[in-house]
Amino acid sequence: MAPQTFTDVLLEGLAPDGGLAVPESIPQVTPEQLQAWRSLSYADLAYEVLKLFITDIPEQDLRELTRKTYRPEVFGGEVIVPLKPLESLKPGVSLLGLSEGPTLAFKDMAMQFLGNLFEYVLARRGTTLNILGATSGDTGSAAEYAMRGKQGVAVFMLSPAGRMSAFQRAQMYSLQDANIHNLAVHGVFDDCQDIVKAVSGDLAFKTSHRIGAVNSINWARIAAQVVYYFHGWRLATEGAADPMAQVSFAVPSGNFGNILAGHVARSMGLPIRRLVLATNENNVLEEFFRTGIYRPRASSETYETSSPSMDISKASNFERFVYDLLGRDPARLKALWDELAAQGSFDLSACKPQFAQYGFVSGTSTHADRLATIRQVHAETGVVIDPHTADGVKVALPFVEPGVPMLVLETALPVKFSATIEEALGQPAPRPAGFENIEQLPQRVRTVDGDVQTIKDLIAADAV
Ligand SMILES: *Cc1c(COP(=O)(O)O)cnc(C)c1O
Repeated sequence: MAPQTFTDVLLEGLAPDGGLAVPESIPQVTPEQLQAWRSLSYADLAYEVLKLFITDIPEQDLRELTRKTYRPEVFGGEVIVPLKPLESLKPGVSLLGLSEGPTLAFKDMAMQFLGNLFEYVLARRGTTLNILGATSGDTGSAAEYAMRGKQGVAVFMLSPAGRMSAFQRAQMYSLQDANIHNLAVHGVFDDCQDIVKAVSGDLAFKTSHRIGAVNSINWARIAAQVVYYFHGWRLATEGAADPMAQVSFAVPSGNFGNILAGHVARSMGLPIRRLVLATNENNVLEEFFRTGIYRPRASSETYETSSPSMDISKASNFERFVYDLLGRDPARLKALWDELAAQGSFDLSACKPQFAQYGFVSGTSTHADRLATIRQVHAETGVVIDPHTADGVKVALPFVEPGVPMLVLETALPVKFSATIEEALGQPAPRPAGFENIEQLPQRVRTVDGDVQTIKDLIAADAV
């Protein structure tokens, strides 16, 4: 198949044959480059890393896009992504603060860049895009805050009526921008997802209304996430005796998008020792890294947990990692996925030595673990962490090695999941400035029946 450009893949979401897009080869970074990047701003670091993947946007324009995105006014401070040491919990352990953006979750890191990128690419091509998505919380709000007020883009976001936290509802539904359309569907998240599939599966409708997506398989999101692994590494190794000292990362995982970016950074030559994959009770990925057997579960077998953004039993980005595991051989990958379709599982236990070569280890965390970890971190450091980050800390601790910094990715701030914080600490999560009365703001949402034609009609009426 002919290679596609970065912006083609950005707009299409999927490769032309319906599969996932990956770069033809992984760009390599030299130790000299790594040292030179230490002094750059986050925005300029993002430019240097993204330039290696994005070859069809003029360099000056790309630099402007990263500077427009990674600004202190958007991410709450000069460093954009701060390191928050938890020394008194265990020496060497820190949080990597990825949740300082407008929606207080790590998805802003990539999505804010995508908002600016979409606006730029659509203007250049003289076209528009209507983004259709389903959300159970973090993705939808990150997409809406990234696209609000942008030229040439509208967002139609389906959410299950009454099933998100009051804070998450307020975040999304209080947006008053004309190009943001919140559709609360009577039903559960899977119903929303099915509607999205049905609408995008109608190719005539999809083409005539220029329907697009920003779901977690979008390669541009992965590329933007690679940047903060480089940033975390440089912060944690500043002043180290060995300028190429190794760092480990622990990643609360659901769709395997966040940790895949870590795998890409490591493949580019960043000195990452371990990638610690943390799951909640939905432990399909943990089971794979422990046994070599991949057995995705049905949505009926997926638990509703107190780290809801990780309640995923079929990780959409996992195939990209298996592609590397199989030596980047598309025929072998296809054969394996055919086996998965036929049998519901596959066995790569023969590849287990390679998991370690790639630095992967894994662990599971339960509701009781989350509560205990939130309490312990609060008691020993004074810091309140969110339930997803707590899964990361819990799973990371046994893998901490002397002399190797362990960076736990802070994937959300606790205020988004305050009920669990109250359960753990007997007090609500601290509220960042600007979010004091968000639940009282007027909301702009339409509650609709989950039928495909109704949704199509609403899109047709408001499409750009
Ligand atoms: C999306 C999300 C995750 C899971 O990230 P993946 O890239 O899907 O693995 C973890 N924590 C929070 C808070 C999230 O929003």
